[in-house]
Amino acid sequence: MDSELLLQPLRLGRQTFPGIWRVMMPPAFQKLRFPDEKQADCMNCPKSCYEEWRPDYRCCTYHPRIPNFLLGLACRTPEGHRAVDELLERGMVLPEGMHSSPRQWLDFVDDEHEDLFGKSQKVLCPMLDRVSGHCRVHAFRNSVCSTYFCDKEQGHAGEVFWSQIQTLGSQLEMRLAQWALREIGFDLDASIRALNELASDLTQASSDQGWHPAALQHIWGEHAGREKELLLACADVIVKNRDRLWSIARQQRIEEPHDFDAALLEKVPEEQQEILEEPDTEWTEIVDLEALWEDCRIAHDALWEEPSGLFTLSPQVSFVPNEYQSQEERYHQARPFFLEYRFQNPERSLYFRLAIRREEKAWLDSFAGSFRPLPTAGVETQEFLKTMIHRRVLRAQGPAT
Ligand code: SF4
Ligand code: SF4
Repeated sequence: MDSELLLQPLRLGRQTFPGIWRVMMPPAFQKLRFPDEKQADCMNCPKSCYEEWRPDYRCCTYHPRIPNFLLGLACRTPEGHRAVDELLERGMVLPEGMHSSPRQWLDFVDDEHEDLFGKSQKVLCPMLDRVSGHCRVHAFRNSVCSTYFCDKEQGHAGEVFWSQIQTLGSQLEMRLAQWALREIGFDLDASIRALNELASDLTQASSDQGWHPAALQHIWGEHAGREKELLLACADVIVKNRDRLWSIARQQRIEEPHDFDAALLEKVPEEQQEILEEPDTEWTEIVDLEALWEDCRIAHDALWEEPSGLFTLSPQVSFVPNEYQSQEERYHQARPFFLEYRFQNPERSLYFRLAIRREEKAWLDSFAGSFRPLPTAGVETQEFLKTMIHRRVLRAQGPAT
């Protein structure tokens, strides 16, 4: 494959993925059918239009870990080159790639605790072009950014599917980033030791915009001052080995700076500890990539399994007319109704609300009060009704399909 193609985003259906996914993911990845994530309309972001998310940053109130080789590839485009230079200037690049400083990570935890994702004033991705609102490394973003959709068209089934793809992508990125470092002669173990040494005094490790220069000097060792050279070398070695990335990654174990990570967790205030995820013990073990890929395929098949049997409209669903008064209502000009799905527990109230077209309401109305099969005609109708099944708006009789 022409290496230039790896600089172009990979378009599959309505979604775009980083160009490297052409060779990093198993070949069958490109044969998957991806959900058409229409609700997450980034060009006209509903979250910023009516949910008070920042219109400039939207879901980019987050510091992604972009692996070194993707940053190196980004440097081959003028916009990416500038973005990586700025990132280096801020001190947000470690040998493995973009990495928030301890203070930045604690800010992120604080935001999560205060439910400020999308509204943050302090955690803003430096890769975003604030004028255009575009990601400057779109073709080189990491797997978290590549699989994030604020509202999944296929509900829980879509959530499971994208989360499996993200897990696989993240494992590949971390393994290949570490492999590339070793391959070009970088002493990965020394840099992990250096990070662990910082654990004794984390307060000194951050600056206002990223890592403190002294911490960076310690972590980068003899490569300090030649960071970009190293990013480019990592990209080169990945491109050179593009036909065997999967088998390389399968052999790799991810090395983690455990002392540093533990010290960072200790810095999280007690009242915020509840939002931390349980440590994933599998992450650092050699997880079989084939097994992760199999999980992706299972989630994919579950997504597109043809539903059969009889369905009825959930009693937790109601319809309200679009009054075109609020920002949300005006946003959905062409949709005269809202479907509201409520929790059974009245205290938890609204679970989700979807703007729907007149004919979609009529299709759903036909399922009210009795069980009936899905109609056989009309692909559009079928697709919509399948989505409604995945979102539990339509419930199956007997065993779930
Ligand atoms: S994914 Fe992000 S930018 Fe796109 S619609 Fe959702 S919040 Fe907005
Ligand atoms: S890398 Fe791009 S997509 Fe990801 S958070 Fe930053 S600006 Fe957003």
